[in-house]
Amino acid sequence: MFLPHSVKNRLILWAVLALAVTSAASAVVCLTYSSRVAKAAANAGTIATNQGLNFEILLPLIIPYILLLVAIIVLFSWRVNRCINPLIDLTRRCREITINNLSLRFSSTESCKEANALVTEYNTMLDRLESGVKRIRQFSGDASHELRTPLTILRGETEVGLRWAKTADEMRNILQSNMEEIERMGRIIEDLLTLAKSESGELPLSIREISLSDLLQELYLQGRTLAESKNIEVTLSHKVNEEILIRGDDLRLRQLFLNLISNAIRYTNVSGTVTIDVDRQDSEVIVEIGDNGIGIPHQHLPHIFERFYRTDEARNRTTGGTGLGLAIVKGITDAHNGTIQVTSTPNVGSTFSISLPVDGPEPKPSQK
Ligand code: ADP
Repeated sequence: MFLPHSVKNRLILWAVLALAVTSAASAVVCLTYSSRVAKAAANAGTIATNQGLNFEILLPLIIPYILLLVAIIVLFSWRVNRCINPLIDLTRRCREITINNLSLRFSSTESCKEANALVTEYNTMLDRLESGVKRIRQFSGDASHELRTPLTILRGETEVGLRWAKTADEMRNILQSNMEEIERMGRIIEDLLTLAKSESGELPLSIREISLSDLLQELYLQGRTLAESKNIEVTLSHKVNEEILIRGDDLRLRQLFLNLISNAIRYTNVSGTVTIDVDRQDSEVIVEIGDNGIGIPHQHLPHIFERFYRTDEARNRTTGGTGLGLAIVKGITDAHNGTIQVTSTPNVGSTFSISLPVDGPEPKPSQK
């Protein structure tokens, strides 16, 4: 028999069937009753008149009719329950979900397409919530861990100073070292704030037309200064012969490219090279920052834009990075509607390629 899948149609079908069967049964009872009354009157040689109900004839008809009605009601309620129960069950199980058991999942049900669709959507929503909460927890753990390290150094050095430092010079050295840790903590907090804002979509961008050519020229000069102590050669090459203008946030784009250039210098050995290439393709600008440094092992590539992710925990921490640089780079790129890609080979080098729309990001509704 044709059975529609949707709850609504099934219920309508069952209601119509129940109504049809009861009406048909009522009609059969009425017709049989009146024909039997007429037959009984004919046998008695009288004319059937309206002299009240003949229970002798009615009872054998009404009992099966009542039984049939009860059967229809039972069957109808069973069908309705089959459609509604999964939803009631789902409502009950929803009450069990708290922030601490987000791994709970609902199982799908055979009988109801709508309930199944709801179960699938609920499970997908729980997947998203679970991974979001996991990320927040991981983030809080990582952030406390990162801040605890400089704090421990700070406390240790202060204790040493208070106990052992005798001369002003010794005290100055300790304060100098403390200052470095304080600066490091300040950098981490600043980076965390930038990331928190960029993830909640509240990174304030001051979008205007800027000359990317000028900006990269300035960063190239800064890069050369940074690279001097390691004797690293920094080059800048424009693949187009005209000034490149784009709409974007000057300060944030500066931060984006400087993070990549300083990483390239940091992870390149003495006497290496760092290249900055700029190209324009239709409505996109492509900036590539390359180096012939230590490279990134293949298994780390999918994770390097995650917060606090470092390919070599111990070494990178001592080189002064916060492990947040690339996460910020990604946040700024996303906020500009751009994309970022990385290719890297260990001991050969890495290239980060950023593509930005010349017209800048879509203005937010409030800015329109
Ligand atoms: P960090 O502050 O530790 O440099 P980042 O978020 O900037 O943190 O980078 C994350 C990790 O990616 C780094 O710890 C490093 O292992 C790796 N990395 C980033 N850029 C490069 C590069 N140019 N060459 C090699 N490894 C890199």
